[in-house]
Amino acid sequence: MPSEHHAVLSRIKTVSDMVEALRNEERCRHLLEQMVWPRGRICPACGFRESIALAGRDTGAKARPGLYQCSNGACRHQFTVTTHTPLHATKLPLRVWRKRCSAAL
Ligand SMILES: [Zn+2]
Repeated sequence: MPSEHHAVLSRIKTVSDMVEALRNEERCRHLLEQMVWPRGRICPACGFRESIALAGRDTGAKARPGLYQCSNGACRHQFTVTTHTPLHATKLPLRVWRKRCSAAL
């Protein structure tokens, strides 16, 4: 799955490519996560490398998709890919991605 996302990203050369790639929110989020966490999710609060997804098949529809909780017992911070994300982590400012994402909805 990660290699598929890398393939998608590598094909994005222009804004219209990006819009095409971000046609739905789910794909947008996966792309963002791939850019922000190329080596896996990291808690933005404490830097812990393990976290669990709070939304998904087993958790019902209450939580937002893409919401994670830090597995560090002393932290338990809840975050998404856009929470406290350093802009230098991506080549494009996240607000551009967010704009594209909302446009894709
Ligand atoms: Zn944490």
